[in-house]
Amino acid sequence: QAKRQGRNTYQWFTCDLNTQESQRVVLRNELQTAIEKQQFELFYQPQVHAFSGQVIGFEALIRWKHPQRGYISPVEFIGLAEDTGQIIAISDWVLATACRDNVRLNSMQIGAFTMAVNISPMQFQRGNFIRSVRESLERTGLPANLLELELTEGILMENAEHAIDALHKLRREGIRIAIDDFGTGFSSLSYLKRLPIDKIKIDRSFVNDVISDQRDAAIIQGILSMAYHLQLGVVAEGIETQGQYAYLRKHGCNWLQGYYFARPMPLATLEIYLEEQHQAYQLNLARQRSDE
Ligand code: C2E
Ligand code: MG
Ligand code: MG
Ligand code: MG
Repeated sequence: QAKRQGRNTYQWFTCDLNTQESQRVVLRNELQTAIEKQQFELFYQPQVHAFSGQVIGFEALIRWKHPQRGYISPVEFIGLAEDTGQIIAISDWVLATACRDNVRLNSMQIGAFTMAVNISPMQFQRGNFIRSVRESLERTGLPANLLELELTEGILMENAEHAIDALHKLRREGIRIAIDDFGTGFSSLSYLKRLPIDKIKIDRSFVNDVISDQRDAAIIQGILSMAYHLQLGVVAEGIETQGQYAYLRKHGCNWLQGYYFARPMPLATLEIYLEEQHQAYQLNLARQRSDE
């Protein structure tokens, strides 16, 4: 009896490992198909100015439109794509598409919008990264100062000298650099001091409980104060409530992003959204004028 049980356990165990491994193989093959058949879509989430509420730009967030399973989150496939190298083909597509769509959004003539694109470690470390960014700008005609690259602390720590050099080159062309998920990595402040960057994005794990947890509040105030004195812009991500919004605005965070303002949405929906926002804004201006 014991022996049989042991054997069953053992079989179950190996079987589970195999399942995990074969799931990865399946996913990897499906990803290959997705790349070939262009099953990806970019959703765009607005970032707003904390005081005026005006949209100042967007973050591009990839979705995989799987023929059977529907939309799949990047959390489920970006890591694997990074391991297999498939991220290179995917990120080339992301850059080109985000730039192209931002040209279109700016042609609506209702603002000069920045497009923020998430950069993966392998993509950044590739020798021709700067050239591929430049090509995306040239091909689409997007002005360099309307493109922002989001990098994590981890990416920049990997090969510090190379990273700093690359950031200088990108910024010389006018491209903006933001540190994503700020505060979740382990980079030292003396290293951060040397990084040529434009802004930091406060990770949403700090924003989440900022109202109820004094430690989160302290961390956020510390980041805001540091950013102010280093003359860096700050975006807080993951704003979901009026309370979080009010808190961050009160403590001097310039830009905000989160479900409270808008969820990530497809290009066509975003165009309608921007049009509506613009009309509401014009209406408000007209009202204010007639009140005077
Ligand atoms: P991230 O760059 O930190 O992006 C922010 C994530 O927070 C997005 O998740 C966004 O949908 C979500 N979010 C925004 N506002 C709120 C909010 O108010 N509440 C909550 N709970 N979540 C909010 P998403 O789209 O699932 O993306 C997850 C991560 O996948 C991104 O984190 C980024 O690291 C990665 N990713 C997304 N698109 C790309 C891409 O094109 N290339 C690469 N390399 N990575 C990407
Ligand atoms: Mg990001
Ligand atoms: Mg983030
Ligand atoms: Mg993240």
